[in-house]
Amino acid sequence: MRTKLIAGNWKMNGSLADNEQLCKAILAGMNTSQTAGVAVCAPAVYLSQLQNLLSGTAIALGSQDISSHEKGAFTGELSAAMLKEFGVRYAIVGHSERRQYHGETDTAVALKAKAALAAGITPIVCVGESLAERESDKTEEVVKRQLAAVIHENGHCISEIVVAYEPVWAIGTGKTATPEMAQAVHAVLRAQLHAASSVAAERVQILYGGSMNAANAASLLSMADIDGGLIGGAALKAADFLSIIAAAN
Ligand code: PEP
Repeated sequence: MRTKLIAGNWKMNGSLADNEQLCKAILAGMNTSQTAGVAVCAPAVYLSQLQNLLSGTAIALGSQDISSHEKGAFTGELSAAMLKEFGVRYAIVGHSERRQYHGETDTAVALKAKAALAAGITPIVCVGESLAERESDKTEEVVKRQLAAVIHENGHCISEIVVAYEPVWAIGTGKTATPEMAQAVHAVLRAQLHAASSVAAERVQILYGGSMNAANAASLLSMADIDGGLIGGAALKAADFLSIIAAAN
């Protein structure tokens, strides 16, 4: 039985004061007997602050990106080893905003996942189709292509990843995939993992992301292959994030 994982993606939001307030409110509201894992993926400049705030708590720390390179002349990038020094346990890779605004290819994303795994950081690999791709019935083809690159580069380590299915048209738009729509894609991804490794199919958590909120979390999280959520907007409000965590328990 896979445990659920609720991961917040703060994107480019926060401040020293706001982060402290948000983390303290989430920690205060979390049920000590909860079974779901919880993580927050913060802007890199705040990782040190959050390492101090979250160490020894039930909230794991995540980054929003990671370099595929070990070190050297890669201005602006952060290596897995550097992130590890700041207590990072998860790294989002291939978020659609990075694919869209930074031209990240499927192979680049797969190599980022590989660098994370080599350092003992769990990559949260994002896949998802655009509205045009959904409307032209390409959803399955797109998400399978994106995941195939990660499977190809990561071989037997594939059971150590987390996948997040994030339909691009649902991110930050208030439009959510219905539980049935999301489940159908999650089942495709699960079957693809199974073809690569039965262990991976059993172990890998497949999160849903795209306007998940306090009102729709329970129905999405009740689906057989939805093992948690990657939460953007609702992760910035303690009460909403706590409701989603509660729905996962
Ligand atoms: C995201 O950015 O990964 C996301 C799912 O955002 P939102 O929840 O705001 O749609």
